[in-house]
Amino acid sequence: MHPDTVAVHAGETIATPPASLVPPIWQTSVFTFEDLRTAGDVTGGAAPGYSYTRIGQPNADLFGEAVAALEDAEAGAVAASGMAAILAALIAGRDGRPVAAAEELYGGSVALVEKFLAPLGVRCLRFDAHDPDSVPAEAGVVLAESASNPLGRLADLEALANRAHEHGARLVIDNTFATPYLCRPHAHGADLVVHSVTKFLAGHGDVTLGVVTGSGELVRLAQSALTTFGATPDPFACWLALRGLRTFGVRMERAVANARGVAAFLAGRPDVERVHHASLPGHADRELARRYLSGQGPAILAFDLADEAAAAAFISRLRLIRYAPSLGDVSTIVLHPATTSHRQLDEAEQRRLGILPGTVRLSLGLERLKDLEEELAHALG
Ligand code: PLP
Repeated sequence: MHPDTVAVHAGETIATPPASLVPPIWQTSVFTFEDLRTAGDVTGGAAPGYSYTRIGQPNADLFGEAVAALEDAEAGAVAASGMAAILAALIAGRDGRPVAAAEELYGGSVALVEKFLAPLGVRCLRFDAHDPDSVPAEAGVVLAESASNPLGRLADLEALANRAHEHGARLVIDNTFATPYLCRPHAHGADLVVHSVTKFLAGHGDVTLGVVTGSGELVRLAQSALTTFGATPDPFACWLALRGLRTFGVRMERAVANARGVAAFLAGRPDVERVHHASLPGHADRELARRYLSGQGPAILAFDLADEAAAAAFISRLRLIRYAPSLGDVSTIVLHPATTSHRQLDEAEQRRLGILPGTVRLSLGLERLKDLEEELAHALG
Protein backbone atom coordinates (compact mmCIF):
# COMPACT_ATOMS: atom_id res chain seq x y z
CA MET A 1 0.00 0.00 0.00
CA HIS A 2 1.00 3.58 -0.52
CA PRO A 3 2.62 5.21 2.57
CA ASP A 4 -0.35 7.65 2.69
CA THR A 5 -2.73 4.74 3.20
CA VAL A 6 -0.36 3.07 5.67
CA ALA A 7 -0.19 6.30 7.69
CA VAL A 8 -4.00 6.36 7.85
CA HIS A 9 -4.42 2.73 8.98
CA ALA A 10 -1.26 1.47 10.72
CA GLY A 11 -1.37 1.19 14.53
CA GLU A 12 -5.09 0.43 14.82
CA THR A 13 -4.97 -2.79 16.83
CA ILE A 14 -3.68 -4.12 20.11
CA ALA A 15 -4.02 -7.91 20.41
CA THR A 16 -4.98 -7.84 24.11
CA PRO A 17 -5.95 -4.48 25.56
CA PRO A 18 -3.70 -3.96 28.63
CA ALA A 19 -5.42 -3.98 32.02
CA SER A 20 -4.17 -0.58 33.20
CA LEU A 21 -4.67 0.27 36.88
CA VAL A 22 -6.09 3.66 35.92
CA PRO A 23 -8.64 3.86 33.10
CA PRO A 24 -7.33 5.13 29.77
CA ILE A 25 -8.76 8.21 28.08
CA TRP A 26 -11.04 7.11 25.25
CA GLN A 27 -10.21 10.26 23.29
CA THR A 28 -12.34 9.46 20.29
CA SER A 29 -15.47 11.04 18.87
CA VAL A 30 -16.85 7.74 17.55
CA PHE A 31 -16.62 3.96 18.13
CA THR A 32 -16.43 1.20 15.53
CA PHE A 33 -18.57 -1.96 15.11
CA GLU A 34 -17.74 -5.49 13.95
CA ASP A 35 -21.03 -5.99 12.13
CA LEU A 36 -24.42 -4.56 11.25
CA ARG A 37 -26.32 -6.34 13.97
CA THR A 38 -24.11 -5.09 16.83
CA ALA A 39 -24.25 -1.58 15.37
CA GLY A 40 -28.05 -1.77 15.26
CA ASP A 41 -28.35 -3.19 18.76
CA VAL A 42 -26.00 -0.65 20.36
CA THR A 43 -27.36 2.41 18.58
CA GLY A 44 -30.93 1.25 19.24
CA GLY A 45 -30.19 0.74 22.95
CA ALA A 46 -30.89 -3.03 22.86
CA ALA A 47 -27.27 -3.89 23.78
CA PRO A 48 -24.69 -2.09 25.94
CA GLY A 49 -21.84 -0.35 24.18
CA TYR A 50 -20.76 2.93 22.72
CA SER A 51 -21.36 4.42 19.30
CA TYR A 52 -20.84 8.18 19.31
CA THR A 53 -19.12 10.21 22.03
CA ARG A 54 -21.84 12.87 22.30
CA ILE A 55 -24.30 10.07 23.11
CA GLY A 56 -22.07 8.28 25.60
CA GLN A 57 -18.47 7.35 26.34
CA PRO A 58 -16.65 5.25 28.94
CA ASN A 59 -14.87 8.11 30.76
CA ALA A 60 -18.19 9.86 31.40
CA ASP A 61 -19.80 6.62 32.54
CA LEU A 62 -16.97 5.90 34.98
CA PHE A 63 -17.15 9.37 36.49
CA GLY A 64 -20.99 9.38 36.61
CA GLU A 65 -20.94 6.02 38.37
CA ALA A 66 -18.40 7.31 40.92
CA VAL A 67 -20.44 10.42 41.81
CA ALA A 68 -23.67 8.39 41.96
CA ALA A 69 -21.94 6.07 44.47
CA LEU A 70 -20.80 9.09 46.53
CA GLU A 71 -24.28 10.62 46.48
CA ASP A 72 -26.01 7.28 47.21
CA ALA A 73 -27.95 7.53 43.96
CA GLU A 74 -28.95 4.91 41.43
CA ALA A 75 -27.32 6.69 38.49
CA GLY A 76 -25.33 9.74 37.39
CA ALA A 77 -25.14 11.62 34.08
CA VAL A 78 -22.11 13.79 33.37
CA ALA A 79 -22.57 17.18 31.71
CA ALA A 80 -20.19 19.58 29.99
CA SER A 81 -20.54 22.04 32.91
CA GLY A 82 -22.43 22.62 36.13
CA MET A 83 -24.85 24.87 34.22
CA ALA A 84 -25.56 22.11 31.67
CA ALA A 85 -26.24 19.75 34.60
CA ILE A 86 -28.73 22.21 36.14
CA LEU A 87 -30.57 22.68 32.83
CA ALA A 88 -30.75 18.90 32.30
CA ALA A 89 -32.02 18.34 35.86
CA LEU A 90 -34.75 20.98 35.48
CA ILE A 91 -35.85 19.42 32.21
CA ALA A 92 -35.79 15.88 33.64
CA GLY A 93 -37.67 16.97 36.77
CA ARG A 94 -40.25 19.20 35.14
CA ASP A 95 -43.77 18.06 34.34
CA GLY A 96 -45.04 21.07 32.39
CA ARG A 97 -45.71 23.13 35.50
CA PRO A 98 -43.56 26.14 36.57
CA VAL A 99 -40.02 26.01 37.92
CA ALA A 100 -39.60 27.33 41.47
CA ALA A 101 -36.10 28.66 42.16
CA ALA A 102 -34.79 29.64 45.60
CA GLU A 103 -34.00 33.34 46.05
CA GLU A 104 -30.41 32.61 47.09
CA LEU A 105 -28.91 30.84 44.10
CA TYR A 106 -25.79 30.98 41.96
CA GLY A 107 -26.26 33.86 39.49
CA GLY A 108 -26.00 31.53 36.49
CA SER A 109 -28.93 29.46 37.78
CA VAL A 110 -31.02 32.61 38.20
CA ALA A 111 -30.17 33.71 34.66
CA LEU A 112 -31.06 30.25 33.35
CA VAL A 113 -34.56 30.27 34.80
CA GLU A 114 -35.39 33.98 34.47
CA LYS A 115 -33.59 35.00 31.29
CA PHE A 116 -33.71 31.86 29.17
CA LEU A 117 -36.45 29.48 30.39
CA ALA A 118 -39.05 32.20 31.02
CA PRO A 119 -39.09 33.46 27.39
CA LEU A 120 -39.60 29.83 26.30
CA GLY A 121 -42.86 29.83 28.24
CA VAL A 122 -41.57 28.10 31.38
CA ARG A 123 -43.04 30.11 34.24
CA CYS A 124 -40.44 30.80 36.93
CA LEU A 125 -41.41 31.43 40.53
CA ARG A 126 -39.07 32.33 43.38
CA PHE A 127 -39.25 31.22 47.00
CA ASP A 128 -37.30 31.53 50.24
CA ALA A 129 -35.33 28.33 50.91
CA HIS A 130 -35.36 29.18 54.64
CA ASP A 131 -39.16 29.17 54.67
CA PRO A 132 -40.35 25.81 53.24
CA ASP A 133 -43.97 27.06 53.37
CA SER A 134 -43.06 29.55 50.63
CA VAL A 135 -42.50 26.72 48.09
CA PRO A 136 -45.23 27.55 45.53
CA ALA A 137 -47.97 24.92 45.19
CA GLU A 138 -48.06 25.40 41.36
CA ALA A 139 -44.41 24.37 40.91
CA GLY A 140 -43.52 21.16 39.07
CA VAL A 141 -39.83 21.32 39.94
CA VAL A 142 -38.12 23.09 42.84
CA LEU A 143 -34.46 24.18 42.71
CA ALA A 144 -32.38 25.10 45.79
CA GLU A 145 -28.78 24.88 47.04
CA SER A 146 -27.92 22.75 50.08
CA ALA A 147 -25.47 25.49 51.15
CA SER A 148 -25.99 28.80 49.42
CA ASN A 149 -23.63 31.12 47.60
CA PRO A 150 -21.97 33.25 48.97
CA LEU A 151 -23.04 33.17 52.65
CA GLY A 152 -23.29 29.38 53.03
CA ARG A 153 -26.85 29.52 54.42
CA LEU A 154 -28.22 25.99 54.76
CA ALA A 155 -31.54 24.75 53.42
CA ASP A 156 -33.88 22.56 55.46
CA LEU A 157 -33.71 19.74 52.92
CA GLU A 158 -36.34 17.46 54.44
CA ALA A 159 -38.87 20.27 54.85
CA LEU A 160 -38.26 21.41 51.24
CA ALA A 161 -38.60 17.82 49.97
CA ASN A 162 -41.83 17.34 51.93
CA ARG A 163 -43.35 20.57 50.59
CA ALA A 164 -42.26 19.81 47.02
CA HIS A 165 -43.63 16.27 47.21
CA GLU A 166 -46.91 17.44 48.76
CA HIS A 167 -47.33 19.58 45.63
CA GLY A 168 -46.37 16.63 43.41
CA ALA A 169 -43.16 18.45 42.45
CA ARG A 170 -39.59 17.19 42.25
CA LEU A 171 -36.80 18.66 44.33
CA VAL A 172 -33.47 19.44 42.62
CA ILE A 173 -30.61 20.26 45.01
CA ASP A 174 -27.39 21.92 43.90
CA ASN A 175 -24.86 20.30 46.27
CA THR A 176 -21.79 22.09 44.88
CA PHE A 177 -20.92 24.01 48.09
CA ALA A 178 -21.67 21.29 50.66
CA THR A 179 -20.46 18.30 48.56
CA PRO A 180 -21.22 14.66 49.45
CA TYR A 181 -18.34 14.83 51.96
CA LEU A 182 -20.69 16.83 54.20
CA CYS A 183 -24.19 16.28 52.85
CA ARG A 184 -26.09 13.71 50.76
CA PRO A 185 -29.36 15.36 49.73
CA HIS A 186 -30.92 12.17 48.26
CA ALA A 187 -31.01 10.72 51.80
CA HIS A 188 -33.14 13.75 52.79
CA GLY A 189 -35.62 13.50 49.93
CA ALA A 190 -34.00 15.27 46.95
CA ASP A 191 -35.06 13.69 43.65
CA LEU A 192 -32.12 15.03 41.67
CA VAL A 193 -28.75 16.34 42.85
CA VAL A 194 -26.54 18.51 40.67
CA HIS A 195 -22.93 19.63 40.96
CA SER A 196 -20.56 21.98 39.35
CA VAL A 197 -17.82 19.32 39.23
CA THR A 198 -15.55 22.23 38.30
CA LYS A 199 -15.33 22.91 42.05
CA PHE A 200 -14.62 20.47 44.91
CA LEU A 201 -15.32 17.16 43.13
CA ALA A 202 -12.61 17.65 40.48
CA GLY A 203 -10.84 19.97 42.89
CA HIS A 204 -7.79 21.23 41.00
CA GLY A 205 -9.11 24.20 39.04
CA ASP A 206 -8.38 22.54 35.69
CA VAL A 207 -11.73 21.10 34.58
CA THR A 208 -15.16 22.46 33.64
CA LEU A 209 -17.78 19.74 34.17
CA GLY A 210 -21.14 18.99 35.80
CA VAL A 211 -23.09 15.97 37.00
CA VAL A 212 -26.70 15.02 37.78
CA THR A 213 -27.56 12.10 40.09
CA GLY A 214 -30.89 10.48 40.91
CA SER A 215 -33.08 7.52 40.03
CA GLY A 216 -32.24 5.56 36.88
CA GLU A 217 -35.38 6.90 35.22
CA LEU A 218 -34.76 10.61 35.93
CA VAL A 219 -31.06 10.37 35.09
CA ARG A 220 -31.87 8.69 31.76
CA LEU A 221 -34.09 11.68 30.97
CA ALA A 222 -31.34 14.10 32.01
CA GLN A 223 -28.81 12.17 29.90
CA SER A 224 -31.12 12.25 26.92
CA ALA A 225 -31.54 16.05 27.28
CA LEU A 226 -27.74 16.48 27.51
CA THR A 227 -27.19 14.29 24.45
CA THR A 228 -29.78 16.19 22.44
CA PHE A 229 -28.44 19.65 23.42
CA GLY A 230 -24.87 18.53 22.78
CA ALA A 231 -24.02 19.43 26.38
CA THR A 232 -22.21 16.15 27.06
CA PRO A 233 -18.59 16.21 28.25
CA ASP A 234 -15.20 15.69 26.72
CA PRO A 235 -13.46 12.36 27.65
CA PHE A 236 -10.31 14.09 28.94
CA ALA A 237 -12.32 16.34 31.28
CA CYS A 238 -14.05 13.24 32.71
CA TRP A 239 -10.70 11.51 33.13
CA LEU A 240 -9.22 14.51 34.97
CA ALA A 241 -12.32 14.75 37.18
CA LEU A 242 -12.11 11.07 38.15
CA ARG A 243 -8.43 11.51 38.96
CA GLY A 244 -9.29 14.57 41.09
CA LEU A 245 -12.07 12.67 42.83
CA ARG A 246 -9.62 10.04 44.08
CA THR A 247 -8.30 12.55 46.64
CA PHE A 248 -11.72 14.07 47.41
CA GLY A 249 -11.84 12.76 51.00
CA VAL A 250 -8.43 14.02 52.10
CA ARG A 251 -8.87 17.33 50.28
CA MET A 252 -12.24 17.96 51.89
CA GLU A 253 -11.03 16.95 55.33
CA ARG A 254 -8.30 19.61 55.17
CA ALA A 255 -10.43 22.29 53.47
CA VAL A 256 -13.34 21.89 55.92
CA ALA A 257 -10.95 22.00 58.91
CA ASN A 258 -9.30 25.11 57.43
CA ALA A 259 -12.70 26.78 57.01
CA ARG A 260 -13.56 26.08 60.65
CA GLY A 261 -10.15 27.38 61.79
CA VAL A 262 -10.25 30.50 59.61
CA ALA A 263 -13.86 31.23 60.68
CA ALA A 264 -12.81 31.12 64.36
CA PHE A 265 -9.71 33.24 63.59
CA LEU A 266 -11.70 35.92 61.73
CA ALA A 267 -14.43 35.94 64.38
CA GLY A 268 -11.79 37.03 66.89
CA ARG A 269 -10.58 39.99 64.79
CA PRO A 270 -11.89 43.47 65.74
CA ASP A 271 -11.69 44.66 62.09
CA VAL A 272 -14.08 41.91 60.90
CA GLU A 273 -17.70 42.89 61.49
CA ARG A 274 -19.31 39.50 60.93
CA VAL A 275 -18.27 36.00 59.89
CA HIS A 276 -20.74 33.75 58.07
CA HIS A 277 -19.98 30.10 58.77
CA ALA A 278 -22.27 27.47 60.24
CA SER A 279 -19.49 26.15 62.53
CA LEU A 280 -19.61 29.34 64.62
CA PRO A 281 -21.63 29.56 67.85
CA GLY A 282 -24.74 31.67 67.37
CA HIS A 283 -24.98 31.06 63.60
CA ALA A 284 -28.62 30.90 62.48
CA ASP A 285 -28.10 27.51 60.76
CA ARG A 286 -26.33 25.60 63.54
CA GLU A 287 -29.24 23.20 63.94
CA LEU A 288 -29.46 22.60 60.16
CA ALA A 289 -25.68 22.03 60.11
CA ARG A 290 -26.13 19.39 62.80
CA ARG A 291 -28.91 17.69 60.83
CA TYR A 292 -27.51 17.86 57.32
CA LEU A 293 -23.74 18.59 57.48
CA SER A 294 -22.69 16.39 60.45
CA GLY A 295 -22.36 19.53 62.56
CA GLN A 296 -19.78 21.12 60.25
CA GLY A 297 -19.78 24.12 57.94
CA PRO A 298 -18.79 24.06 54.25
CA ALA A 299 -15.22 24.68 53.05
CA ILE A 300 -16.35 28.19 52.05
CA LEU A 301 -17.01 31.14 54.29
CA ALA A 302 -17.85 34.80 53.98
CA PHE A 303 -17.08 37.74 56.23
CA ASP A 304 -18.02 41.40 56.32
CA LEU A 305 -15.50 44.22 56.39
CA ALA A 306 -16.55 47.84 56.95
CA ASP A 307 -17.20 48.71 53.29
CA GLU A 308 -16.11 48.09 49.69
CA ALA A 309 -12.91 50.11 50.16
CA ALA A 310 -11.93 47.92 53.13
CA ALA A 311 -12.66 44.76 51.08
CA ALA A 312 -10.60 46.09 48.14
CA ALA A 313 -7.69 47.02 50.44
CA PHE A 314 -7.82 43.58 52.11
CA ILE A 315 -7.80 41.77 48.75
CA SER A 316 -4.98 43.93 47.38
CA ARG A 317 -2.74 43.02 50.34
CA LEU A 318 -3.15 39.25 49.87
CA ARG A 319 0.04 37.52 48.66
CA LEU A 320 -0.73 33.79 48.80
CA ILE A 321 -4.49 33.84 48.33
CA ARG A 322 -5.45 34.87 44.81
CA TYR A 323 -8.58 36.57 43.51
CA ALA A 324 -10.46 34.11 41.28
CA PRO A 325 -14.20 33.88 40.52
CA SER A 326 -14.51 30.20 41.42
CA LEU A 327 -14.18 27.91 44.43
CA GLY A 328 -13.25 24.39 45.48
CA ASP A 329 -9.62 24.53 44.35
CA VAL A 330 -6.54 23.08 46.13
CA SER A 331 -5.50 26.66 46.83
CA THR A 332 -7.49 29.14 48.89
CA ILE A 333 -9.14 31.74 46.68
CA VAL A 334 -10.97 34.97 47.43
CA LEU A 335 -13.89 36.73 45.76
CA HIS A 336 -15.87 39.94 46.30
CA PRO A 337 -19.49 38.83 45.67
CA ALA A 338 -21.04 42.31 45.27
CA THR A 339 -18.88 43.14 42.23
CA THR A 340 -18.40 39.64 40.81
CA SER A 341 -20.70 36.66 41.43
CA HIS A 342 -23.75 38.76 42.45
CA ARG A 343 -23.22 41.90 40.38
CA GLN A 344 -26.42 41.18 38.42
CA LEU A 345 -28.40 42.12 41.57
CA ASP A 346 -28.82 45.78 42.53
CA GLU A 347 -27.52 46.90 45.93
CA ALA A 348 -30.94 46.67 47.61
CA GLU A 349 -31.39 43.07 46.45
CA GLN A 350 -27.86 42.22 47.53
CA ARG A 351 -28.52 43.69 50.98
CA ARG A 352 -31.78 41.74 51.26
CA LEU A 353 -29.75 38.53 50.77
CA GLY A 354 -27.15 39.72 53.29
CA ILE A 355 -24.46 40.56 50.71
CA LEU A 356 -22.89 43.88 51.73
CA PRO A 357 -20.33 46.05 49.88
CA GLY A 358 -17.74 44.85 52.42
CA THR A 359 -18.58 41.12 52.13
CA VAL A 360 -15.66 38.91 51.09
CA ARG A 361 -15.89 35.19 50.23
CA LEU A 362 -13.09 32.71 50.86
CA SER A 363 -12.95 29.20 49.42
CA LEU A 364 -10.53 27.27 51.58
CA GLY A 365 -7.79 25.16 50.07
CA LEU A 366 -5.23 22.75 51.44
CA GLU A 367 -2.61 25.11 52.88
CA ARG A 368 -1.62 24.85 56.55
CA LEU A 369 -3.97 26.83 58.79
CA LYS A 370 -1.14 28.78 60.46
CA ASP A 371 0.07 30.08 57.07
CA LEU A 372 -3.48 31.11 56.17
CA GLU A 373 -3.89 32.93 59.48
CA GLU A 374 -0.64 34.83 58.93
CA GLU A 375 -1.73 35.72 55.41
CA LEU A 376 -5.13 36.98 56.62
CA ALA A 377 -3.64 38.90 59.55
CA HIS A 378 -1.24 40.60 57.11
CA ALA A 379 -4.02 41.49 54.66
CA LEU A 380 -6.30 42.80 57.41
CA GLY A 381 -3.40 45.05 58.35
N1 PLP B 1 -23.75 25.88 40.94
C1 PLP B 1 -23.01 26.63 41.79
C2 PLP B 1 -23.37 26.67 43.23
C3 PLP B 1 -21.92 27.36 41.31
O1 PLP B 1 -21.19 28.12 42.16
C4 PLP B 1 -21.61 27.31 39.91
C5 PLP B 1 -20.49 28.09 39.35
O2 PLP B 1 -19.81 28.83 40.02
C6 PLP B 1 -22.42 26.54 39.07
C7 PLP B 1 -23.46 25.83 39.62
C8 PLP B 1 -22.13 26.46 37.60
O3 PLP B 1 -21.11 25.55 37.37
P1 PLP B 1 -20.16 25.60 36.06
O4 PLP B 1 -19.36 26.85 36.15
O5 PLP B 1 -19.34 24.34 36.18
O6 PLP B 1 -21.07 25.58 34.88
